[in-house]
Amino acid sequence: MKILDKFLNILYPENLTCVFCDEEIFDDNKFNTCESCYNNLPFIKEKVCARCGDPIKSMATYCDRCQNKKFFYDKARSVFYYKDEIRSCIKRFKFDGCKYLYKPFANFMAEKYKEENFDCDVVTYVPIHETRLKMRGYNQAELLAKEIAKILNIPFVEEAIIKTKKTIPQAELDYKQRQTNLVDVFKVKKSNAFKNKNVLLVDDIFTTGATINNCAREIKKSGANKVFALTFAHTIIEE
Ligand SMILES: [Zn+2]
Ligand SMILES: [Zn+2]
Repeated sequence: MKILDKFLNILYPENLTCVFCDEEIFDDNKFNTCESCYNNLPFIKEKVCARCGDPIKSMATYCDRCQNKKFFYDKARSVFYYKDEIRSCIKRFKFDGCKYLYKPFANFMAEKYKEENFDCDVVTYVPIHETRLKMRGYNQAELLAKEIAKILNIPFVEEAIIKTKKTIPQAELDYKQRQTNLVDVFKVKKSNAFKNKNVLLVDDIFTTGATINNCAREIKKSGANKVFALTFAHTIIEE
């Protein structure tokens, strides 16, 4: 390792170790991931539904769900499957105060954005209710969105959407309940920010897409042209 790199590593200690295995890493690595962990991460590489990003095995363009239902977002993509070390890393990010993980996560997501040729005018995020924000101290989706906007050099819209009601976490509900749990809980405060724009909506996990869809509905109501959703991880749901 070069002297300068060593010096930089002292200044930015988060670059020192792999976020997945804690092994020391020596090269300049925006993902904070060692080579062996990187090669084993559950990247989504399979063919996916043109809309929701669920993997599909058939020749169809859309999955069964998207063929039968109209969604408000235009396209949703995630970097990883929500499993293994990705699952545990997200838990650390959200619940164990490992706030710094937003940086490598956002770099993975920015790569995905480029890979998918998303073309967005503004970046925003799925809000959390203010009581939860006070408890956690940060909204993980906001941290990701802000960093992605910085990396891609796209304007970031802060506090554009609010969550008006506290809801039961989607993970604790079944598929049907998840669809109604979030109806009318999101409100757009800065509708001008979205008018005639292609909006990148950022969140950490895509589960049934209900959260993304309900936010996207409000964004579209504000006159947005298209809504692209980008999440770090994608849950494979059993309906
Ligand atoms: Zn590692
Ligand atoms: Zn689909």
